[in-house]
Parts: sequence; structure tokens; C-alpha cells
Amino acid sequence: MDCLFCKIIAGDIPSSKVYEDDIIFAFRDINPQAPVHVLVVPKAHIASADEVNPSNSSSVAHIFVKIPEIAAACGLKKGYRVITNCGPDACQSVKHLHFHILGGAQLSDRMA
Ligand code: AMP
Ligand code: ZN
Repeated sequence: MDCLFCKIIAGDIPSSKVYEDDIIFAFRDINPQAPVHVLVVPKAHIASADEVNPSNSSSVAHIFVKIPEIAAACGLKKGYRVITNCGPDACQSVKHLHFHILGGAQLSDRMA
């Protein structure tokens, strides 16, 4: 499958890894939109939030168990924002489910 994030997970494309276990992979966004900008993805290919279902939702739950640990490891003591873009109106550019963790500065009070 021609998926950028599957290639990053496989190590075929280099990334700045922040965390990895059997189920998920986290790495620095190449074009950070905050002082800390990390992407957290399931290792299993899920195209977007639209594709989450009862058989793959445990990996999404695991991501949310690990997000606080990843945020703490990145020094986000004062909070952070978690975003997933789904589909064209949300400008999803990589069709592998990913959660952006943004922080390290006061973020805008607007989300869109
Ligand atoms: P989205 O627009 O929500 O689909 O987010 C995709 C994100 O992937 C963007 O923030 C990009 O900057 C990021 N990105 C694209 N290519 C890479 C890469 N090779 N390594 C790390 N992040 C990437
Ligand atoms: Zn993929």
C-alpha cells in the first residue's frame, strides 16, 4: 500500500521517533505548527476517523492511554491540544489515521 505513514512506521522513510510500542508509533511532525507538534498513529493502517470500528477501536483507545505519557515526555506541563483531521473539509492530507499533539506555547482559543 502506498501510504506515507505506513512507510514511516516500517522505517522505510526516516522520522524523529518519540514513542513506539506494538500498537502505536509517535513522531515529530515535519512541518511543526507549534513548538511541540507530534503525530501519533496506529501501526495498523486505518484511513481516517471514518474508518474506526469495533474491530480496530482498541488501537485508538490505546493511543489515548498513551497520549498523556507522550505529552509529559515532550515537556507539555501546561497542557496540549489533540486534533485529528478527517476528510477534505478538514484538510486531511495523509490518509492514515493520526492524532496531532500540539503544545509548548499558548495556543489559539479558536480551533478553525
Ligand atoms: P493532516 O493534514 O492532518 O493529514 O496531517 C498530516 C501531517 O503530516 C502534516 O502536519 C504534515 O506536516 C505531516 N507530515 C507529512 N509528511 C511527513 C513526514 N515525512 N514526517 C513527519 N510528518 C509529516
Ligand atoms: Zn498507512
